[in-house]
Amino acid sequence: MRTVVWKSLGESQKEGLMRRPAITTGAQTQASVTEIIADVRERGDESLKALTQKFDGVELDSIKLDKGTLAEAEARLGEDIKLALRQAYDNISTFHRAQKAQPLKVETMPGVVCESITRPINRVGLYIPGGSAPLPSTVLMLGVPAQIAGCRKVVLCTPPPVADEILYCAKLCEIDEIYTLGGAQAVAAMAFGTQSVTKVDKIFGPGNAYVTEAKRQVSLAANGAAMDMPAGPSEVLVIADAGADPDFVAADLLSQAEHGPDSQVVLVTPAPEMAEKVADAVQQQLTTLNRAEIAKQALGSSVIIIADTLTQCVSISNRYGPEHLIVQTQQPRDLLPLLDNAGSIFLGAYSPESVGDYASGTNHVLPTYGYTRTYSSLGLADFTKRMTVQQLSDTGLQALGPTVMRIAEAEGLDAHRQAVEIRLTKLQQTQASE
Ligand code: NAD
Repeated sequence: MRTVVWKSLGESQKEGLMRRPAITTGAQTQASVTEIIADVRERGDESLKALTQKFDGVELDSIKLDKGTLAEAEARLGEDIKLALRQAYDNISTFHRAQKAQPLKVETMPGVVCESITRPINRVGLYIPGGSAPLPSTVLMLGVPAQIAGCRKVVLCTPPPVADEILYCAKLCEIDEIYTLGGAQAVAAMAFGTQSVTKVDKIFGPGNAYVTEAKRQVSLAANGAAMDMPAGPSEVLVIADAGADPDFVAADLLSQAEHGPDSQVVLVTPAPEMAEKVADAVQQQLTTLNRAEIAKQALGSSVIIIADTLTQCVSISNRYGPEHLIVQTQQPRDLLPLLDNAGSIFLGAYSPESVGDYASGTNHVLPTYGYTRTYSSLGLADFTKRMTVQQLSDTGLQALGPTVMRIAEAEGLDAHRQAVEIRLTKLQQTQASE
């Protein structure tokens, strides 16, 4: 990891340090995804089977897994992993259940009642990536809020072979249907529906460049499906003062670095001696990791920034807007009011990122790539939508009507004005005749 002193940098160097590597989806990837989506829309299940054979090397008898497969997977799993997944499920459920929006009803003026009510998104699709490691935690992070929100249909796609842990979590979350599908074809199937796959209204979950590009394309298509949030490589920024434990800081940096070669890892500290100790500890701990090669590549583009003060560390963090922010200082909570751009914040020596990744209760699907300025951690609200309601009494309309008519007149919308006027006139006639 290279070390830089913040105050010695010019503005353009600072800007460069805060910038993520450009995410470029090549024209080739975009074109293949467009082709895959078109083929799935045209040929449905037949296309899904052919594409799964081509990209995953698997011949599918059936796209949809039957419920018996879930019971077999559960029977194969050891008690220890089931217990751990259930504990994670319980904590994630507790935190997300507490996010339920309360109905809102306000009388803005006498006789004018405004309400906000929440409904689940009807049908949602969850994408769970395949690849080197099964991701049961992602099933929980997507499946639990869908379950608590009360979405009427929850479907899940994951490429073959499907890990038992994924099926066990799907069972905990009462996922309605599971399809052995990966990549752009899975996204296309969920967005438009096929003979076997239920069409959904919104698609959630991470994935490779094909999955991400497919989510983007189907979200722009008429009659496609909405998507959760834009995705970039995973990131962590650690703020550590002189009193932090360098071994803890190094372990947190490495736990991010092992995600992938494109992971972004930043340490900001006002203590130059901490920078040195952490760099040493990183080298030492690297030797113990099974994904050391991946971590090394990520560390190659990572940086330690030495700031003047803790307050400057905070402003650097706010400028970077990390997905994960770990604060290892003597009084971490004191910095909280000053922090405003981060996906998920981990306060103090005993709150490593791993707990949020798996089991504390918070969601691990977070905005990356500086989107923390405008996007939030995934939560219950993403699986619901709000509707507003208003009801006016006759006296309410008599009181508010002239205001509305005056504004409609200013906007030149006669029919708007008339919709009020016609009522007020009838009310006057009725009242006069009484
Ligand atoms: P994946 O499930 O995303 O993609 C696998 C699918 O890609 C295959 O089923 C296949 O259909 C398709 N595919 C492969 N090669 C293709 C080609 N040439 N043309 C068209 N389609 C092709 O699994 P993965 O590839 O292992 O990637 C996992 C991704 O998920 C990684 O990029 C990782 O960074 C990301 N991820 C992100 C998070 C997060 O929370 N941000 C978490 C876990 C994983």
